[in-house]
Parts: sequence; structure tokens; C-alpha cells
Amino acid sequence: QKDERESMMIVSAFAQKYFTRYLWSENEGRTIGLSYLRERGIRDEIIKKYELGFCPDAKDTFTQAAQKEGYKMDFLEKTGLTIKRDDWVRDRFAGRVMFPIHNIAGRVIAFGGRTLKSDKNVAKYLNSPESEIYHKSRVLYGIFQAKRDITRLDKCYLVEGYTDVLSLHQAGIENVVASSGTALTPDQIRLIKRFTPNITIIYDGDAAGIKASLRGIDLVLEEGVNVKVLLLPDGEDPDSFARSMSSGQLQQYIAEHETDFIRFKTQLLMKGAESDPISKARLINDIVRSIAMVPDAITRSVYIQECSRLMDVQEEILYTEVRKIKFRDN
Ligand code: ATP
Ligand code: MN
Ligand code: MN
Ligand code: MN
Repeated sequence: QKDERESMMIVSAFAQKYFTRYLWSENEGRTIGLSYLRERGIRDEIIKKYELGFCPDAKDTFTQAAQKEGYKMDFLEKTGLTIKRDDWVRDRFAGRVMFPIHNIAGRVIAFGGRTLKSDKNVAKYLNSPESEIYHKSRVLYGIFQAKRDITRLDKCYLVEGYTDVLSLHQAGIENVVASSGTALTPDQIRLIKRFTPNITIIYDGDAAGIKASLRGIDLVLEEGVNVKVLLLPDGEDPDSFARSMSSGQLQQYIAEHETDFIRFKTQLLMKGAESDPISKARLINDIVRSIAMVPDAITRSVYIQECSRLMDVQEEILYTEVRKIKFRDN
């Protein structure tokens, strides 16, 4: 079984090298894949650092090349690189720009592939299936490239997508990872916690992104990690936003707009409800529920002070409510 995992990682490493070579050295890769990435404003240096690639747009060109090099169909199938049925074989990622997903040690364990077609019936991103080497709920895109900077800066930015990671990195924010396509999980937070107890969530500035941020806040708090949030203007994601300004402007914007979770919830949920006592009470309850999830008592009391100040409620009352919730849950 250990051998099987090793074989799967070896075939994944071969695939990454093949896709990267194809992107840089083959005509199809250069004219379709590389020019797409460059047109998106991704610099060559970043394309290389993240080992991006391109999978030929033909039925099973990659699979044939792999087999010719001696890689077994069994492992090509188990990693999901090849899809095989009784009467046909094809490359899962044919015609896609390839984003290899590395584990913390830097080994390739899976891929995300972006289509270049604007056809609504084609999935924009396709991911490797779950396998013995790839458990998507335990993996963060970019963690290998970011881990040193996360430790150095004692902080991690968390975004939704592959290109968000690339664009922020390119703008000088190198301590960034993505949950890429899955809802954030406790395992992903624990992975970050190995390097820092400070997370800032920067999700897309749309309804889905806001909802995911609110959910993310509670999950992060439950793991005993400090959480801040940055809300982007409506319709922007970190990638589009980063590309609309200089690196310096972006870094300044982030520094000025990062807010702790209490302030974030207050600003978000109090819009137009300041003078309505019922809405205010509901919001206070909501914040108290989040505070009650924080495992550390000192951190809880800091949050209670902040909530007291922002919402103009006595600290004693908040303490009482937090205690009630903790009792109810235990
Ligand atoms: P782009 O900027 O290339 O259009 P994006 O990263 O902004 O893409 P979103 O729609 O915001 O795309 O999705 C965020 C992330 O969710 C993606 O980067 C990808 O990891 C994942 N994702 C999106 N669509 C799919 C899909 N159909 N299947 C699997 N994962 C997906
Ligand atoms: Mn989105
Ligand atoms: Mn997006
Ligand atoms: Mn995007």
C-alpha cells in the first residue's frame, strides 16, 4: 500500500513535468496555454514557481506518452490522470491549463485543470479525484510554496481559487493558500496552524464568498486560530482585484481593510439595522455564539471587550451569555 502511494506520486511527478514541458516547449502549449496565462497577467516566474502546465488537447496523447515511458495504466487510472472504460481511454485533463497541487513536502499529489473554452456546459475547473494520495479536504493549494513565508510573517491569507493564490503571490503577498473548490475544513485549518495561529480570509466579493467567510470564521475560531476577514468590493475576487492596481496599492488596501471578525460581522450585518433593537440583539447573539467557540479564555475576553465596545453592551452581559452557550454545548 505504501508502494502504491509511492507509485502514484511518481506518476504524478512525471505528469507535472510532462505538462510543464508541453506548456513551454510544444507549439500547442505555447500558443494556447502559455499565451492564456500571460494574457491573464501571470508572469513567467510565477508560472515556473507553481509548475503550471498544459495537457494536450487530444484524446489520450498524455496517457500514451506515459505508457511509452513505462508508467502503468493502473496508476494512471488511480491518480485520475487517465479515464479508462472497456472500449476507450482518454486524458482527463485534455486541453486544460494545469495547476499541480503539492503536498507540504512539495510532491505533486493531484491537479486542477482549467478549460480555455467559454462553453457553459464545460466545467471551468476539473480536479483530480480523491485517491490514496489526494484527500482534498486535507490539502491547501499553494501550501508548499507559501509555508516559509507563513512562518516568517506569522500569518496566512486564505483565498478561494488557484489564480487568487498566483496573483497575490505575484503582488508580493507570498503567504497565501487556497481551499480551492472545497468548503473550508478543520483539517485545512490545522494544516495552517502548524505554521501560524493567524488567518485572514479573503474570499470572493459575492454572496457565496460572504457566506463562506461567515462559515469560515466559526470554523477557524473553533480551532483556536485568530481570524480576520477582508471583504472585497462586489464582483471582485483577489485575482481580479490585485490586477486592477499596483502591488503597493494592493498591500496598502489590505493593511487598511483587514478587520477582525467582530468588526466584520458588525459592519456586514448591521447595515441599515443600527436603530432596530431586535436586529441589534440578533447580531449580538450571533457574535456571542462565535466568541463562545474560541477555546482560549483570554482570547475570548479580548473579543468580549471588543464586542462590548462596538455594540455598546456591558461586558458582564456578554460574559454571561458566552458562559450559557458553552454550558449548553458541553
Ligand atoms: P478564474 O479566475 O480562472 O475564472 P476562479 O478561481 O475565480 O477562476 P471561481 O469560480 O471563483 O474561479 O472558483 C474558485 C475556485 O473553486 C477555483 O479556483 C477552483 O479551485 C474551484 N472551482 C471552481 N469551479 C469548479 C468546478 N467546476 N469544479 C471544481 N472546482 C471548481
Ligand atoms: Mn466565486
Ligand atoms: Mn473567483
Ligand atoms: Mn477569478
